[in-house]
Order: sequence, then C-alpha cells, then structure tokens
Amino acid sequence: MADMSDASTHSTTALAAGTALTAVLAVLVGLVGFIASGAVALAMSPALAEATPSTQLNVEAIPPHARHLVPWVVRAGTSCAQLTPPMIAAQIDLESSWNAEAVAHNRPASGGDAIGIAQFQLGTWATWGDDYDRDGRGVPEDPEDAISAMGRLMCDLVSWAGENVDAGRLRGDVLDLAWAAYFCGRGCVLSTPGTVSDYPRQVRARIGKYTLATADAWRLPLREGSYELVSRFRSPNRPNHDGVDLAAPSGTPIYAAAAGVVLDAGCTSPYCDRPGNEDLPGCGLRVNIDHGNGIATRYCHAVRLNVTAGAHVQAGQVIAWVGSTGHSSGPHLHFEVHRGAPPLRSANAIDPLAFMDSVGVHIPRDPH
Ligand SMILES: [Zn+2]
Repeated sequence: MADMSDASTHSTTALAAGTALTAVLAVLVGLVGFIASGAVALAMSPALAEATPSTQLNVEAIPPHARHLVPWVVRAGTSCAQLTPPMIAAQIDLESSWNAEAVAHNRPASGGDAIGIAQFQLGTWATWGDDYDRDGRGVPEDPEDAISAMGRLMCDLVSWAGENVDAGRLRGDVLDLAWAAYFCGRGCVLSTPGTVSDYPRQVRARIGKYTLATADAWRLPLREGSYELVSRFRSPNRPNHDGVDLAAPSGTPIYAAAAGVVLDAGCTSPYCDRPGNEDLPGCGLRVNIDHGNGIATRYCHAVRLNVTAGAHVQAGQVIAWVGSTGHSSGPHLHFEVHRGAPPLRSANAIDPLAFMDSVGVHIPRDPH
C-alpha cells in the first residue's frame, strides 16, 4: 500500500470497472415542467408530526450465521451521527455478503488482497484495524474487528468528505463521497471531483432491506413487476420532465409511497372522464401527498381516484388506479418527488430514482 492515508479497501465486488456516473443529484432550478403544475390551488399546508426515518436494524435480513454480529453492527452504525446500523449492514452485504472468509484478489500495486467481511486491505487495516473485541486476534478476518474498523473508517471518511465539500474541493452528498472513498480511496475521489463510483448507489439500494419497517417507511408506488420505467427525470430529450414515467396497464393500483396527508386530488386537465392525448395540457387525474419534513409526492394520469383532499393515508394505501388522463400517450403513472414542499413546483422537484434509493426503495433502471 503506497499511500497509507489513502483509505481504500479496493474490494472487487460485482462492480464493473469504470462505472462512474455523474452525480446528478443537484436540483436544477428554474425549469418549468410540461405538466400544468399547481393548476389546482393548494388550499392547505398541514403541520405533520416530525417524521424521523427509521434507523432500526432489521435483524431478520441478516443471514442466521452472522446474527451474532448484530451488536457490533449497531455499535459501528452509531459511532457517529451520520451513520446508521442499516447503512453498515448494507455495506457489509455489498462487500462480502456477510462472508468473513471472503478474499478478493487485487494486484499488489492496487493494494493487494481485500480480506474478510468488510474487505480490508492490509495497508488500510494497519491504520484502522485493532483487536476491538479483545479476543487476542486483531485481523481483518475477524468479523467483530472488521465491522468496528469499518465504522471508525466510515466516520472518518464522512468528516473528511464534509471538510472537502466545505472547502469547495468536492461536491455532492457527504455520505456518497465517503462510500466512494471507502471503495476507491480518498485520492481517487479527490482526483475525479464531480463523479462518484457506482458503489454509493449500490450501498443505498441495500439499506431498505436492513431497515425495520415502521409507519415512516417508504415503498414503491406500484407493485413490483407491475410496471416498466419508460421515461426518466429530466432526461436529455425531455429536460422539463419533472418525474419518472412508469408504464402499467390501465387499472393497476397506485399506492401512497409513504404515509401523509393528501394535499389535493382531482382533475387538472380540460377533461378527465376519458383518456387524454399529447396535445392536452395537464396531469389528468392527480394526487399530491404531503409526507412532512418538506417531502411531497405527486401521482398523475390516473383513470380513477380513491382519495380526497385532506385524507390521511398510510404507506401502501391505494390512492388511485393507473390511467392515461391529461397530457399522456398511454396508460402510465407519472411520479414526482418534491423537497421543500408544499407547494409542489418544478423548481423543487428532485429525481425520484435517487430519492427512493436514499430511503432504501429501489426502482429498477433497466426494463425487463
Ligand atoms: Zn411523465
């Protein structure tokens, strides 16, 4: 290991080389969506109770052979404010699938083998490893030691990323930057500002599985397998598209993605009693839900609604059925997420795929 300060585990988990993706999380301000946003007046702004996302570990998701490690995962996941136990569990899942014997072979020039449940290389272990469980053996193959070292290193990487963001040397989400540095090293992240590896997304995609479901949980707005992602958020050819389009047969149930209060539910186009077309303005039959903490979701083009303004809904409650009303060329759910809402405006729309990943719900990118 040439650079001991370059904390990297260089694990060779199933990540294709060079799958760096540009961080597109920055909210583009000032774009106006093609949908007639705000066509219905938002009459109410309900004060929701402070909704804290669940950070409790779902022990059942950990393979039985590794459940004795739960106290170590919880300790590592609470060793600094930015981490949670489900985040540590997700990272272990990605690194080794909970296999303390895992070894990923890397060339010596790349830091050598990545070893154990957290895939430490010896150079990185020399800095962060220790006999944390006091069993006389402080090695990366010892899962208790490795999980503790992962927690320490991740906390250090989070504060390192925060300092570099504050200093203007890096941009992006501090956790994403810390995860990227865990995978490829601090030097690697600093030398390619503006891009992160696919590793952070893969960690985020696993967090939901390790999070204990609560009333605050998020879920898919359509049943898994019932839809196909056909249009993304602000894609190059649709820069004003403020949501994602999930194609599904007419009549497919649409679920509230999380608990909240219905802000409005109604027709936002000249007519909603029959399918619309691409010349018709508006979102058709639409539901907006306030989830508290400034997060709101929007569901468009329904064939029929199942809620009215002011209703309290639970995650997974049927709020409408897929249709093709308003500005639409076929049955689909147009789904938006807003931060800093209400009101729901184009300026505060964020990428639903990235947001749902961040709450542990993965919408597959590739249609099957
Ligand atoms: Zn759409």
